[in-house]
Amino acid sequence: MKKKSSAKKRCPKCKVLRRQGRLEVRCEIRRHNSAQGSKQRTKAA
Ligand SMILES: [Zn+2]
Repeated sequence: MKKKSSAKKRCPKCKVLRRQGRLEVRCEIRRHNSAQGSKQRTKAA
């Protein structure tokens, strides 16, 4: 279970915020940024 990417805080600087029905994690560390709840994961148009 390494790839369970859910919107969780990883460090004290992470902030979880809800945007348009989905959860996002914003942090100064880029690899901490993540999103959960978005149904569109493909970037291919
Ligand atoms: Zn963080």
